[in-house]
Amino acid sequence: MKPKTLNDVIDVFDVYNVNMITGLVMGNLREDRRILEAFVDCTEASIPVGEIAEMLRKIPGVFTVECVGATENYVVCKLHYPPKVLGEEAVVFRMECLKSWFTRIWKVFGSGAAQIFYEAGLESGREAAKYFREKLGLTSEVLADFLAGIASSLGWGKIVDLSVNPERREARVKIENLFECMLAGRVGEPRGFFFRGHVLGMARELFGTEALTVEETKCIARGDPYCEFQVKPL
Ligand SMILES: [Zn+2]
Repeated sequence: MKPKTLNDVIDVFDVYNVNMITGLVMGNLREDRRILEAFVDCTEASIPVGEIAEMLRKIPGVFTVECVGATENYVVCKLHYPPKVLGEEAVVFRMECLKSWFTRIWKVFGSGAAQIFYEAGLESGREAAKYFREKLGLTSEVLADFLAGIASSLGWGKIVDLSVNPERREARVKIENLFECMLAGRVGEPRGFFFRGHVLGMARELFGTEALTVEETKCIARGDPYCEFQVKPL
């Protein structure tokens, strides 16, 4: 998409007094076409919405225009499906939804819930490291940094410090607001079971050995300012 096309779209909004609330350009490097998603308030627009859409369709470089109108109290964008991460389909849960999920599993399985989340994390961490190593061909240190960035951008928590030492087979991750420990509240003991497994699964793949152990040495669930995970050789 040419910057001129985007500029022309915004000009139409400006000319017809359309108040743009949010705007998002989505696409990837392999395709020329982009999706421009805009949430706009047409209350004060000088022409009907249908005519605004027609004006947008006439802009050189615009292939199609779809409008989703608001109901009385809300508007839901139905053009998003499927949401994607790095070009691949993804699923997003609200925190409150996850909370009900985690609460139920702890209630039903008791201390066994820790093992369930740990195992889920272990497998997903291993898979992520293996997949992106093969896809991007990065060194262990750079790949660890890449995976940490993904975890943060997915909202798992904010990784504030990461150190990886492949020679010594050691790693340390500091993460703020780790989702599962936030969900747990102040229970007085570490609760990062999914992420602990995830870190170990990644480390085993990055360091090429199963002989590693991981410990959550700090946790917000017991009052620390952040969660910290340390990987060491067995
Ligand atoms: Zn924690």
